[in-house]
Amino acid sequence: MIQLYIPLNFLGVIYREIKQSLADMEKLFSLLDQNREIADAKDARPLVTHGAEVRFNHVDFSYDPKRQILFDVDFTIAPGTTTAVVGHSGSGKSTLSRLLFRFYEVNSGGITIDGQDLRALTQDSVRHAIGIVPQDTVLFNDTIEYNIAYGKTGATHDEIVAAARAASIHDFIDSLPDGYKTMVGERGLKLSGGEKQRVAIARTLLKNPAILIFDEATSALDSKAEQAIQAQLKEISRTRTTMVIAHRLSTVADAQQIIVLDHGRIVERGTHQSLLAANGLYAQMWERQQARADEEDVLTEGADQ
Ligand code: ADP
Ligand code: MG
Repeated sequence: MIQLYIPLNFLGVIYREIKQSLADMEKLFSLLDQNREIADAKDARPLVTHGAEVRFNHVDFSYDPKRQILFDVDFTIAPGTTTAVVGHSGSGKSTLSRLLFRFYEVNSGGITIDGQDLRALTQDSVRHAIGIVPQDTVLFNDTIEYNIAYGKTGATHDEIVAAARAASIHDFIDSLPDGYKTMVGERGLKLSGGEKQRVAIARTLLKNPAILIFDEATSALDSKAEQAIQAQLKEISRTRTTMVIAHRLSTVADAQQIIVLDHGRIVERGTHQSLLAANGLYAQMWERQQARADEEDVLTEGADQ
């Protein structure tokens, strides 16, 4: 029995590690702008943006045909405005961002950017127009300069420095003995959660996308680092069409529109004030969060991917 028990327990550890690295792979694919499942239509055209209105038109979606994840999700993000998506863990928030990036195809309904259906567009052009600051940034085992430059092929050193300055990470990089040539990632200098997120912001600034998706970190950062990053994100999202998968109240309160997802359905929508007045799920979540505000400003519960 003991002999059997130990290997099984060991397998559990390996399984968890494999599962974790698969999660990392998903993030990596999102960085590499790759998708092997969805092909361009034969007559696919490049996206042409003018303001970048994002529209989810009665979207139904399931990863697995047996289990529907999104039900009749219908909303518009007006050009240059911010929409926050809130809801408990597993309600489908990150799925919305994956669909907008077209990692998956909707079952019915459609998604348009400036009136153009994603299915009629080249994936390259869609992904070029969208910048994602993910929950957890994967760094390549390369220089910090390379990691920032990944946002734009052929970026000059001056452009990279300007992006790093705007993301408030230039001074930190400058203070390192090897500066921008410092090796980072698993085999190099380990950056903190906040530093990694700043690299992701610099990368996104360099890319200069019309649409921004920000999947907020839940717990990796302390409040102070989080506040600094919030200010940065607010600044870069000011002129861009932005979807924030929100956990923090500061972003939510400012958003022009808040969408509340519950088990894949939009159950409420409005501004922070109107949702508080409606006294529904959002107001409930807000109250609960206020109750433990000194603990952490988290609007969703539990771990979140
Ligand atoms: P949230 O971001 O709100 O926490 P997600 O959009 O990540 O939720 O997930 C919504 C639901 O879809 C969850 O029940 C989750 O288990 C499921 N899900 C997420 N990704 C996949 C996938 N790749 N395959 C199958 N189910 C998935
Ligand atoms: Mg999520």
